[in-house]
Amino acid sequence: MYYIDPHIHMVSRTTDDYETLARMGCAALSEPAFWAGFDRGSVDGFRDYFRQLTEVEPKRAAAVGIQHYTWLCINAKEAENVELSRDVIAMIPEFLDRPNVLGIGEIGLNKNTRNESIVFLEHVEFAVRHEQQILIHTPHLEDKYMGTRMILDMLIDDSRVDRSRVLVDHVEEHTVRPVLEAGFWAGMTLYPVTKCTPARAADIIEMYGPERLMVNSAGDWGPSKPTAVPDFIMEMRRRGHSHALIRRVVYENPLEFFGQSAHFQFAPPDVPEAATV
Ligand SMILES: [Zn+2]
Repeated sequence: MYYIDPHIHMVSRTTDDYETLARMGCAALSEPAFWAGFDRGSVDGFRDYFRQLTEVEPKRAAAVGIQHYTWLCINAKEAENVELSRDVIAMIPEFLDRPNVLGIGEIGLNKNTRNESIVFLEHVEFAVRHEQQILIHTPHLEDKYMGTRMILDMLIDDSRVDRSRVLVDHVEEHTVRPVLEAGFWAGMTLYPVTKCTPARAADIIEMYGPERLMVNSAGDWGPSKPTAVPDFIMEMRRRGHSHALIRRVVYENPLEFFGQSAHFQFAPPDVPEAATV
């Protein structure tokens, strides 16, 4: 089955990973800008990272027949430095016209601080002014419920935000409902240690149906599994769900959401679908 991974950090992954994803049916993926594991010291550090996301990774992906898309921002962890954040946001226009840029992300909250909220709102303002889609990171574990609520309140307060062009990621059982009810898209992240598992994501699809729901691996430099979306496909099959339902979640929903960006010029891969997982 073809699938799209809407959230994966390929700068942290090997060429072997790219090849495995292609063999499993990954037709396209989208890579939001995130925390590198250390705080970058200058706006030039981000400029180089954005070049990697818009110049280097699309080539690595294309070498195995995968289409690579990306999102730009300064992430919530580094947003504690408001001055640097403002400089990074002011530099983003240098990259907005690059052909694989879908929008602004992953912006959001980490520890739900005042500075994170300030920088989040300035990113939203930027996205609205430049008519960009938004991809949102919600906090982990004990900060998740409160942080998700704060993010939704800030977005709902701004009537200019088109909720059908916003994806709220890392939702779990206790946060998925308010995200979907407010009209946003929701992403479930399949992680081996924190966040959702393939089985919990399948439970959530069974409870809420497939509308505006996606799954992603968020594969990065930490404990994570870049082939988590195929694991979800297998779990759904094991439970007897139809090909059409599974394909809607892992392929058609991402196509519909990303298709709202003029930069998303998708063509199915050369690998025959029957040859994938
Ligand atoms: Zn991420």
